[in-house]
Amino acid sequence: MDLIYKSTRNNNETATASEAILKGLANEGGLFVPERIPKLETSLSELSSMDYRGVAYEVMKLFLTDFTEEELKHCINSAYDKKFDIPEIARLVKEDGAHYLELFHGATIAFKDMALSILPYLLTTSARKNHVKNEIVILTATSGDTGKAALAGFADVPGTRIIVFYPKNGVSPIQEKQMVTQRGDNTSVIGIHGNFDDAQTGVKKMFSDAALAEEMNQAGFQFSSANSINIGRLVPQIVYYVYSYVTLLAKGEITEGENINVVVPTGNFGNILAASYAKEMGVPIAKLICASNENKVLYDFFETGCYDKNREFILTSSPSMDILISSNLERLIYQAAGRDADKNRAFMADLNEKGAYTITDDMRNQMKDFYGNYASEEETAKAIKEMYEKTGYIMDTHTAVASAVYKKYLAASGDETKTVIASTASPYKFTRSVMNAIDPAYDKQTDFELVDELCRLSGVKVPQAIEDIRSAPVLHDTVCEKEDMCREVKKILGILK
Ligand SMILES: *Cc1c(COP(=O)(O)O)cnc(C)c1O
Repeated sequence: MDLIYKSTRNNNETATASEAILKGLANEGGLFVPERIPKLETSLSELSSMDYRGVAYEVMKLFLTDFTEEELKHCINSAYDKKFDIPEIARLVKEDGAHYLELFHGATIAFKDMALSILPYLLTTSARKNHVKNEIVILTATSGDTGKAALAGFADVPGTRIIVFYPKNGVSPIQEKQMVTQRGDNTSVIGIHGNFDDAQTGVKKMFSDAALAEEMNQAGFQFSSANSINIGRLVPQIVYYVYSYVTLLAKGEITEGENINVVVPTGNFGNILAASYAKEMGVPIAKLICASNENKVLYDFFETGCYDKNREFILTSSPSMDILISSNLERLIYQAAGRDADKNRAFMADLNEKGAYTITDDMRNQMKDFYGNYASEEETAKAIKEMYEKTGYIMDTHTAVASAVYKKYLAASGDETKTVIASTASPYKFTRSVMNAIDPAYDKQTDFELVDELCRLSGVKVPQAIEDIRSAPVLHDTVCEKEDMCREVKKILGILK
């Protein structure tokens, strides 16, 4: 029997895994959730002798039940290969009393590579299974990181094209350079005169344009999305936490059955939700520690039961967590509401209309495994500096938020349970903020001088992703008005009349 996925906003809308991956979002803005979380079928000690790919298969096969063994193994082996700069794919390092799970060894040195390197294969396999003949066109608006990770994942994947829009003056120079130097015959990158919201709005408009869909279909194309609400991005993330546990077991750091805690630097709530799914599958995880930066809407939510996005949007040194609507939280709300789509839809309507909703005490009770806290900009910088001075290990700003929150949790609870902290980006991706945290005098140096200095301090080789952009030629230089995004897409696909 296949595991069925249901929409969080309509009890009657269902899909198989491959249909949910193809569709991305359910109708009426709902998210697909598995009707139940499967239990692991392989013991933790058996899993502890497997490599990352082996564990990935044992986890993902339980969620993607309409994929054959051959299909799923093909996806896993194609994604988790030499694109990663360490053979283990993900690595656990023990520093200052916690285990840092380095998820940034992929092509764009941020953890989004982990899911976005497999999504193209899951998507093309899903298209084949559902007899989709069209070429899949991935359309993405990005504020920086997602765009590059999606480009790297989809570059030269047969049967796909990818078009990324970014705000021309709204991303960092390194982020822009990473995108406009992207290779691959099926990739397009376009700057727009406008901000991220304009890019996002333009993309959403194209997704819901029925006439455009028909025109595309005539020409043999259809849109799909690489957004983090796609279960094709969520399911691969569950693997991190199963893999962490069994790696600690293999290293003799824990005994089988011993509880661990996990800390996740959180933005859209995808990564930490995956950790909670791992717990439900049977991984002994006690606390799920949700770390926020100064955009602490999730901390306030766990404290009060009220989710309220009516507040100032703060630009921080951990930009991938600068977010006021954590989309994947909806999946937890739905679950805590007894998997009742009508109840969930009412909360989401409140969020849409008033920017806020309050859950019931009973629902809060079901979330007591979660602990939320946040780190200020000052606390984040202090965490980087102190870790460096104590151990020589250099963390990126997002990981530092998690590290600082872990310290707060430890001080408040005295809970000495062994802890895994998700390390979501390489310090080389946020070099300036990281180096300034160590010594503000570094701010006078250029970005590439700072890269070399970071290498000297940390003894960690400069990643290929950074070496590449030092000298790579610009391959994409199109810039358009925000009103002309659809015209640009048609031009790329050769359907402009
Ligand atoms: C996207 C991102 C996050 C937030 O992850 P979510 O799954 O959205 O909560 C944290 N750190 C980095 C570096 C990211 O790119």
